[in-house]
Amino acid sequence: MTGTSSPAATDVLPTGLLIGGEWVTGSSGGTYDHIYPADGRPNATVELAGDAEIDAAVRSAWRAHREWISHTPERRRDLMIALADAMRDDIERLGRLNVHDFAVPIVMSPGHAALAEGFIRYYAGYIDKDTGTSTPVSNKFDVNLIEHEPYGVVGIIAPWNGPLVVIGLNVAAALAAGNAVVLKPSEISPFTPLRFGELCLRVGMPAGLVNVVPSGPEGGAALVRHPGVRKIHFTGGGHTARAIITTAAANLTPVATELGGKSANIVFADADLDAAARLAAFQGPLGQAGQSCACGSRILVEAPVYDEFMAKFLAVVTSAPVGDPFDPANLVGPVVSQAATDRILQVIDRAVADRMGELVTGGNRLGGDLAAGYYLEPTVFADVDNRSPLAQHETFGPVVSVMRFTDEAEAVAIANDTTFGLNAFVQTTDLTKAHRIARQLESGSVWINRNSDISPQSPYGGYKQSGTGRAGGLEGLREFQQVKNIRIGMP
Ligand code: NAD
Repeated sequence: MTGTSSPAATDVLPTGLLIGGEWVTGSSGGTYDHIYPADGRPNATVELAGDAEIDAAVRSAWRAHREWISHTPERRRDLMIALADAMRDDIERLGRLNVHDFAVPIVMSPGHAALAEGFIRYYAGYIDKDTGTSTPVSNKFDVNLIEHEPYGVVGIIAPWNGPLVVIGLNVAAALAAGNAVVLKPSEISPFTPLRFGELCLRVGMPAGLVNVVPSGPEGGAALVRHPGVRKIHFTGGGHTARAIITTAAANLTPVATELGGKSANIVFADADLDAAARLAAFQGPLGQAGQSCACGSRILVEAPVYDEFMAKFLAVVTSAPVGDPFDPANLVGPVVSQAATDRILQVIDRAVADRMGELVTGGNRLGGDLAAGYYLEPTVFADVDNRSPLAQHETFGPVVSVMRFTDEAEAVAIANDTTFGLNAFVQTTDLTKAHRIARQLESGSVWINRNSDISPQSPYGGYKQSGTGRAGGLEGLREFQQVKNIRIGMP
């Protein structure tokens, strides 16, 4: 564990709203005192969008949408490529702002900006290549066209734990599809989205094509019920998704969802156990302190290698440097807030009390130099019962369950015994077995011998209560398009 230091005072944090290409302050939603999770101190006062600002953002987005689709595809493509270039050039600043947002360690945070850049570059390429189809109908001389059109204005609601990732996965596809966007980041993570909005303007995108309106649930609800929003794309928790779908029902606004997970990481006896232990640790309690939708929070280990795997896994978990996220030596930062700290400690206390697993490391808030920040020890429970609340509910913190299984059928049964279905991980050197298992897992993504390396070419999203949307690939573009059939009669 290494000590903490204050973030560089030289970083200027954007705090207004970006609507129609203008910075807006004095907003009707009030302000939010942003706390830097690594030292528990306020670091900025963030403007919050209220009803009036959401309405202004939607109106400016419609104006910008009309301008955007009046450009040739080549011009839109080139502007998207210019935006990707601008993000690449700005990667250091975006990376630092990402640390200020939610204290993701600096060794990882520029990677979020690089991911977003990659998606923007990828989707730029679709703009002048996306095709419709022409299919035959019973009157064989008729022309029957099937085309994809933008919705116009879409609302994109982002969670605090990855605004740059949402910008890549969703905003890039929405723009490439021809939409204008009202992006509502969480008030907890406003800085990188606001910087992204600035970059959109800097490269010459129409003012209002990307409006950035940080707010809490009130601003989000105002966006969802706005009649000018033709589709909502929501990334966040299931509880919020239910509220959003209920609100959206008033206008029958379609909602795509990217939700949480309780992903299984299945380690077979024939796996490279050193690699599997490292992967399980960084895909589990260490990476983003477990605050990732992709967290492999249930680690299933084949019985004959359970003890050997555990020894290697715990060695990685307990030796990972935890501390100041601006120090590149640290691989694990704090969790996001005091409320998250309290909630996660309660999850741990309850898991200890219900005796459905054994606490083998961690379980405490860190003190000493780190006492002011929201640092928790990476925490592992062994021999966890999959029916326990610990194994069934998303913890969203540095806490994982390890379980043992005896054969493939049992591994698949445990992995699928959850309401979630976002990711699954399989560690084995037997690729025939890996493929057989992958086909049986109820999960939107299966990662074999690798971490969750989300790529622009691949659709990412959930099964079951992990959501309905897909990001990446052609599927991700289609999320932001509606289908039109044009039939030309030929008498
Ligand atoms: P959250 O559901 O609390 O909030 C998400 C967003 O919704 C925030 O911007 C919030 O302000 C807004 N919101 C809250 N109430 C609203 C309402 N009534 N109407 C409209 N908007 C509202 O989630 P969070 O704590 O910010 O993020 C963590 C969750 O996100 C976890 O469950 C995690 O697994 C999930 N997540 C999923 C993915 C994915 O790709 N599947 C990616 C990242 C995070």
